[in-house]
Amino acid sequence: MTLIIEGCAVATVDAAGTEHVQGHLVVEGDRIVAVGAGPAPAAGPAPTAGPAPTAGPGAAAGPGPVDLPGTSGVRRIDGSGCLATPGLVNCHHHLYQWLTRGLAQQANLFEWLTELYPVWARLDADLELAAGRAALAALLTSGCSTTTDHHYVFPAGAGDLLAAEVGAAAALGTRFHPCRGSMDLGRSRGGLPPDEVVEDRDAVLAATEAAIDRWHDPAPGSMLRIAVAPCSPFSVTGELMAEAAALARRRGVRLHTHLAETVEEEEFCRERFGCTPAEYLDRLGWLGDDVWLAHCVHLDGCAVRRFGRTGTAVAHCPSSNARLGAGIAPVTALLAAGVPVGLGVDGAASNEAGQLGPELRQALLVARLRGGPAALTARQALALGTIGGARCLGREDELGSLEPGKLADVALWRLDGLGHAGMADPVAALVLGPPARVELLLVGGRAVVEAGELRTGSEQDIARQARASSRRLLGTVGATA
Ligand SMILES: [Zn+2]
Repeated sequence: MTLIIEGCAVATVDAAGTEHVQGHLVVEGDRIVAVGAGPAPAAGPAPTAGPAPTAGPGAAAGPGPVDLPGTSGVRRIDGSGCLATPGLVNCHHHLYQWLTRGLAQQANLFEWLTELYPVWARLDADLELAAGRAALAALLTSGCSTTTDHHYVFPAGAGDLLAAEVGAAAALGTRFHPCRGSMDLGRSRGGLPPDEVVEDRDAVLAATEAAIDRWHDPAPGSMLRIAVAPCSPFSVTGELMAEAAALARRRGVRLHTHLAETVEEEEFCRERFGCTPAEYLDRLGWLGDDVWLAHCVHLDGCAVRRFGRTGTAVAHCPSSNARLGAGIAPVTALLAAGVPVGLGVDGAASNEAGQLGPELRQALLVARLRGGPAALTARQALALGTIGGARCLGREDELGSLEPGKLADVALWRLDGLGHAGMADPVAALVLGPPARVELLLVGGRAVVEAGELRTGSEQDIARQARASSRRLLGTVGATA
């Protein structure tokens, strides 16, 4: 199958920052085969706008991408009024938290966790599936084609939680990098989480290796790669951190954890380890170009330089950091030091919107609150959400920019409606304007969102299941919605 998109603006986010005011993309199978200015080569007559297709599950939602007459095996789409960018890459999330949104509304991180851990202790595989479907649908419909999940709560008897979310991602068509998380430092040993949500260290390592054996696909074009991801300095022992790193490196998979999110975490590390969170991780052999770390709000200049020298990447989560009042990560300094920086929505219990598209704007705004109006440009914000995220996941050779040979993960954003009309710069319209409708989202060449609607599942069914599951988890079965 060949898919041709033309008549749209194109922001390739390649190394040269190539953009086309009006350009084309040609996709064959799961790969991009051509990107350039003007109409696609040998594409026939120039596209003219026509009526929206009447077939398909989302046709009633309003005009979608306009299909043009094509020959057999070729779909041609009129992208006029739209901007094509790489599909967004989400570098940090906790899908299960979709069911516990809107709680602990005025809490800081430690207060918020302390309130939520006992709720999360009741998680099971059915709840995980419902949460995963909802959280993944929110990502897809906001232009995100690749996401990680950092799952670290494995209550005894909860069932196969990882299998539930892997199934959800496969069914919805998301490119998925689930991180097998873990906690082994319960409250009785000086950690923050209650003992009932932590695991035994050997069990964690065995389950993590089993997840790699079962699901990790290192092949080009992979739809699923596992990472190893103990949760945080205040919920994991140093022994597990070190052994997790050794496991990841032995198996050739990436490493992920939370770091330097709040001042309370820094105080915890200074008291317990006599150093900053970044120094603690360095001591454990955790810094390197196979590691990406969520948050990194509270880093000193020394840590920023050390991250740059070691190639350690950062998943910046601006909305979550604002929601929990954690602070603003030093993104401008990280970029200046050569640190790969991607974006993350973080778990939906600390970012109830759970959409990646709006994080482009949020990243730009908080960077400017910290560093002034030139701290981050609209194009830098787009790069964080695309190629920066691909670098965090070690997939910049395949994802994060629109270039021939790369995977056909493409977002086509509609920019000719009320919200964006009149802004001549489409990248500024996308980043500074209101959330843009995703006219088309391709993941490996497959259309998973069209006309702003999910095509791989029913949003109504997903929402219904999320509502019922949230009520069950929170113990309010029988209450009115
Ligand atoms: Zn997180």
